[in-house]
Amino acid sequence: MALIVQKFGGTSVANPQKIKAVAERVMGYSRKGHRMVVVLSAMAGETNRFVDLANQMQTIPDPREMDVLLATGEQATIALFAMAVKEAGLDTVFMVTPNTEPDRMKRIAAKTTGFIYAVSLLGDQVKIVTDRMHTKARIKQIDEALINRHLDAGKIVVVAGFQGVTEDGDLTTLGRGGSDTTAVALAAALKADECEIYTDVEGVYTTDPNICATARKIDRISYDEMLELASLGAKVLDIRSVGFAKRYKVPVHVRSTFTETEGTWVVEEDKEMESNPVSGVTCSKNEARITIARVPDVPGTAARIFDPLTSEGIVVDMIIQNTRDGALTDMTFTVTRTDYKKTMQIMTRVGAEIGAEGVTGSENIAKVSIVGVGMRNHAGIASTMFKVLAQEGINILMISTSEIKVSCVIEEKYTELAVRALHDAFALGKG
Ligand code: ADP
Ligand code: MG
Repeated sequence: MALIVQKFGGTSVANPQKIKAVAERVMGYSRKGHRMVVVLSAMAGETNRFVDLANQMQTIPDPREMDVLLATGEQATIALFAMAVKEAGLDTVFMVTPNTEPDRMKRIAAKTTGFIYAVSLLGDQVKIVTDRMHTKARIKQIDEALINRHLDAGKIVVVAGFQGVTEDGDLTTLGRGGSDTTAVALAAALKADECEIYTDVEGVYTTDPNICATARKIDRISYDEMLELASLGAKVLDIRSVGFAKRYKVPVHVRSTFTETEGTWVVEEDKEMESNPVSGVTCSKNEARITIARVPDVPGTAARIFDPLTSEGIVVDMIIQNTRDGALTDMTFTVTRTDYKKTMQIMTRVGAEIGAEGVTGSENIAKVSIVGVGMRNHAGIASTMFKVLAQEGINILMISTSEIKVSCVIEEKYTELAVRALHDAFALGKG
């Protein structure tokens, strides 16, 4: 008997039939005697629908209120899921009267021994405590007492993914992919035996299988490679979930909701993983580029530009500084596209304060990256990447590298072309 945390993403619970199918799958595990904690996302498309609605109310929707709105998506799915279990799992009231026939009494007795109960819990009921960074809050602490009480009572515990609560009771959400983080953080807090992430593909692939038909499923991948892939756009796992998994040594199994096939294990690195220089190609369109032109090149300029962004919780990714005419410099950097409007607003103010000539930006960019722990001991990987992009006529706008990855910013329209070309060039495809 194991304690298993299972997370089902938006496409897995997209409609009532799918919710029922997921409930059946989970009940199969509880019939075998496992203690089950289920984390659910909102139905596919719901989050986007809420964002659209909010945009009709306010130019930049108030983050606190946005969280109150967004958190309703998961509230709906966990309630529906618990109902599905109660229906199929016989958590119903049986009418027994002095006149009930003996045969029917026997059938009821047989059924009631197989009772499966479910209970749905919101983030604030569990006490998934986060910081106050609305719409991208971080989990600080999880109270496992309530969940354990329900598990001890034999119930399937259904927890709303993606949401938490601040110390003073405000609802928060964890940002895109946040349900993955809820699941892994719960698995760590509850010391679960397994954490399974169920999704619409069969695991982690060498690149997004929806972009590249020859993408191959990876059987085992290290936490570090997965961290890079996730941070560079492979949305199959949220980066913070991988961070939790690494820190608390939670083995994560990514697999399909719709098949029984073994998926991908995200685990600690071993020697075998270093044999390939490149393990995966990834891309992200959630990127925007901002240039502050002709800033006085004096000490402290970078701090004055980036401090206001840090205090708004905006993460700057790549930065390039070009010197022009000796005393002036251009500063170009990237942020996520979701932070673009806010960043432009702040930079227009800051640009005026520091005497910049102007602030320009573009949302039509994307980042393509190659990742692999094997890069540490294989030379020439980056230059191969540049050559491949050049052969496709793709101009590189920015470059950044780390020990196990190389990223290039390119024009958005070339994203898929670049991914396929790189996937081919590094021979990542199916045998
Ligand atoms: P969920 O709603 O289950 O959380 P997501 O849409 O967040 O699902 O993540 C699954 C999707 O991630 C896949 O449908 C796939 O298009 C995309 N994806 C991107 N990169 C990869 C990759 N390297 N391996 C597998 N899937 C990937
Ligand atoms: Mg996801």
